[in-house]
Amino acid sequence: MVGASKSGKTAQPSDKETKESSSKTDMPSVEIPHSLSVRELAELLSVSEVAVIKQLMRNSVMANINQIIDYAMAASVAASFDYEARPKTRSTGRLARTEIKKRLESEVGGNLRPRPPIVTVMGHVDHGKTKLLDAIRQTNVAATEAGSITQHIGAYQAEVNGQKITFLDTPGHEAFTAMRAHGAQATDIVILVVAADDGVMPQTLEAIDHARAADVPIVVAMNKMDKPEANPDLVKQQLADAGLLIEEWGGEVICIPISAKEKTGISDLLENLLLVAELEELKANPSRPAQGVVIEAKLDKTKGPLTTVLIQNGTLKLGDTLAIGTSWGRVRAMFNNKGKQVKRAEPASPVEVLGLDSVPQFGELVTAVAGEHQARALVQMHQQEREVGSARAAKAVTLTNIHDQISAGAVKALYVILKTDVQGSIEPIRASLEQLTTEEVKVKVIHSGSGNITESDVMLASASKGLIISFNTGTEPGAKRSAETEGVAIRHYDVIYNLVDDVGKALKGMLAPTYVEVVEGRAEVRAVFPRGKVGKIAGVYVTEGTVSRSASVRVKRQDKMLSESTLSSLKRFKDDVREVNTGYECGVGVKDFNDIEIGDILEFYRIEESR
Ligand code: GDP
Repeated sequence: MVGASKSGKTAQPSDKETKESSSKTDMPSVEIPHSLSVRELAELLSVSEVAVIKQLMRNSVMANINQIIDYAMAASVAASFDYEARPKTRSTGRLARTEIKKRLESEVGGNLRPRPPIVTVMGHVDHGKTKLLDAIRQTNVAATEAGSITQHIGAYQAEVNGQKITFLDTPGHEAFTAMRAHGAQATDIVILVVAADDGVMPQTLEAIDHARAADVPIVVAMNKMDKPEANPDLVKQQLADAGLLIEEWGGEVICIPISAKEKTGISDLLENLLLVAELEELKANPSRPAQGVVIEAKLDKTKGPLTTVLIQNGTLKLGDTLAIGTSWGRVRAMFNNKGKQVKRAEPASPVEVLGLDSVPQFGELVTAVAGEHQARALVQMHQQEREVGSARAAKAVTLTNIHDQISAGAVKALYVILKTDVQGSIEPIRASLEQLTTEEVKVKVIHSGSGNITESDVMLASASKGLIISFNTGTEPGAKRSAETEGVAIRHYDVIYNLVDDVGKALKGMLAPTYVEVVEGRAEVRAVFPRGKVGKIAGVYVTEGTVSRSASVRVKRQDKMLSESTLSSLKRFKDDVREVNTGYECGVGVKDFNDIEIGDILEFYRIEESR
């Protein structure tokens, strides 16, 4: 398992005060937002600004007190002052948004201004998400002088009664939750499209759970009202069954009948979005350097990397330097969704940026920095973080660490995504799990469904810091891979009693860990070299995976296992190395085994605690 970060000092976000004592490390911890100024960081760490600037200089970053630095850099500075950094924006939902609001309110200079809401459209396949986005675009996005149609850059801004609304153009909960898993909550309101002739379907339910897990308000668009088969009352009943009680029935959820095809009800829907936005009091500070998130990125053959950034705070200007993950560059040109060149982009506006040195990833956080020097330092830090594995993966909630995380105050709820083979198993398991709630920790099934574990389940678990429990069902290959990279724990069960018992024990810290063997690589012995008294060195060719110095090794000859041991040496030519990848040759010494022969197969493995 990889460390939490380069310095091993990052931890789970918590609802606690900014500074606190963590029982785990005895280091005071500090919650750091995804970017902040040097002055703000100094304040958080209770040290002088000069001390922070000096520390940054040691990391080769020249900064002044108003300079904005990102989380990774701030965390490394915090570590040098013996603070354990916790990412602040990683927490999700209303809590995070209130925190963001609070942080915004404390912005110097009182520069907060209302900003347009950012809206994502979700719903079941074929219920009309794309058609609705098209209808809004056609009726509410003013064409440019040339009368050109809007270009697709991942988002667009519509105008209603002189007010703007930003629509993310990638409908569905997958993109929404993938972005949250990266630590960026970009959506303020979800439009849930439900076809009035088809009703609430599995992806409608998923969308509701995903929006709820993020604590984003939902507005229902009851679509396809033009169809004679439309039965809105039945759909309203189904929505109520799913826990969405609409206003007309005494609830709080706004439901607007529309027809995306005939373009009816659209302005009513948009006006209601503005109403919800007003209640949310969405604000940003346009006079600070830009922060945002990547909503689309591609490589253009002639223009190079094209990145659409959704600005979340601050203003992005032509010539600004950006650091995004391991990409950076100066903004050479910017285009809005009408393809028009612009010089600046304000909060909640999407803008296509030209000038990055490589294509960043969807969902990555964007930070405007002071210049090339700082950008390069950030990129280098992100690179190192990527190499050692993400803090997220190392610190995810698992049944074996949940108790420690509760004790450390890092976790107050166990969020479960429950997948079962048949619908009928869900309710009894959910009820038994939620009954395990104690004063210290709440157990909550945030999403359930029948069928295999999908990538979207994994993203939801990652974004919500939850885990996945499956009952008599499998994992789709894509989901398995994502779970590994995101560090999401998946537990499989075939007996309900064992499932509930394990979770109960885990909460009390009494779940005995189980171990699994992970084969990391295989190699074929192609030569044998005697090496004095030490024995023999096998010259091998790595046929699969990787060979690492710290792995355990099994020597096999025609399927017979001859030895189980560890490595006494691993060399490439004359140099000691830590790791050798597939397709390379290397020299391997097997501890306490001297009978190695050409043709033997070495299998390299590691024993890991089951997550
Ligand atoms: P998505 O999968 O949710 O994006 O659904 P689409 O927007 O692709 O729509 C699916 C199908 O439903 C298409 O054939 C649309 O033309 C049709 N459709 C969408 N909205 C309406 C509507 O309001 N009325 C009718 N009659 N058909 C619609």
